[in-house]
Amino acid sequence: METIAVFNLKGGVGKTTLTVNLGAALSALGKRVLLIDIDPQQNLTQNLGANPMRVVGIEDFLRGESRFSSVVRGYRNQFDFIPAGRRLKDLDLALAGRYKENPAITKLFANAFSRQHLDYDYIIIDCPPSIGLLTANVLSYVKKVFIPVQCHQFALNGSKKTVSYIYRIKTIFNPALSISAVIPVMFDSRNKLSNAIIQRLDKAFHNKVTHTKIGVNIALAEAPGYGQTIFEYRPDSRGAQDVMQLAEEILQRELVAANTAAGYETKTALIQQ
Ligand code: ATP
Ligand code: MG
Repeated sequence: METIAVFNLKGGVGKTTLTVNLGAALSALGKRVLLIDIDPQQNLTQNLGANPMRVVGIEDFLRGESRFSSVVRGYRNQFDFIPAGRRLKDLDLALAGRYKENPAITKLFANAFSRQHLDYDYIIIDCPPSIGLLTANVLSYVKKVFIPVQCHQFALNGSKKTVSYIYRIKTIFNPALSISAVIPVMFDSRNKLSNAIIQRLDKAFHNKVTHTKIGVNIALAEAPGYGQTIFEYRPDSRGAQDVMQLAEEILQRELVAANTAAGYETKTALIQQ
C-alpha cells in the first residue's frame, strides 16, 4: 500500500485538483484508492460533493469518536474518500495547545490508521498549505510526498521551505519519509518562464521531477463546479490526458523502484550465500 501526502506550503498551487483527479485516474487504472481531506478549508470534500458542515469527518475518526466505517465514503463506485468536517479546525487548535506537554500527538494520525485494516493500493492525503500539527501528523504517517510545483514566478522559493519542513519531520518523526515526486503543474509551454522553471526543478530535484507536466487547463478548474472529476466532466480534455499520463508514470515509477529494490535484495542474498 502506497501512502502519499500531496503537500506544498504555497497555497493555490493545485494540490486539491491533483489529489482528486489523480485518485480518479488511479482508480480508472484498476487501483483501490482512498483519498483523505486533512485541510480545514475542506476543498477536497466539497469537490467530491460532500457537505463539510454535515459530514462525520476525519477529525471524528482521529479523536476516536467515530469508526473508520462511519467516516469513509464511496465516490460513485470509483474510489473511497474521508471528508473533512467542520470540527477539523478545532482539532488543529487542540493539537497545537497540547504539543508542548506531549509531542507524541504528532503520531495521532499514524496510530489511528495503523490500528485500522486498510484494503487499498493508494492512500492519498490532501494537505493544507501550512505548517501545523495536522500536516505534521500526516507527514509522520506517510512514506511518500508528492509536491506539485506551479510553473510560476516565486514557485521555487515556496518549494525550498516545503522541502526543509519535510526533512525536519523526517529527521524527528519519520525516517522512512521521502519526496518521491515533484510534479510540475499549471505548465504553459508558450511561457518561457514555465520552461525555465522546469530546468531549475530538474537541477534541484533530478529524477524526482515527473516527465509528465500538468498544463494550464480550464476544464480542470471548471470540473469541481459541476461536481465532477475531470474524467467525468471533460474526458477528452488536455487536463484529463495530462492527469492520466501522470497516473501511468507514477505506476511505472513504482514498478521500476520495486524492481530495483528486488534486484538489490537478490544481489545482497547472493553475496551473503
Ligand atoms: P490550497 O493551498 O488553498 O489548498 P491548492 O494547492 O489545493 O490550494 P487548488 O485548489 O487545487 O490548489 O487549485 C487552485 C486554483 O487553481 C483552483 O481554482 C483550481 O481550479 C485551479 N487549478 C488547479 N490546477 C489547475 C490547472 N492545471 N489549470 C488551471 N487551473 C487549475
Ligand atoms: Mg487545497
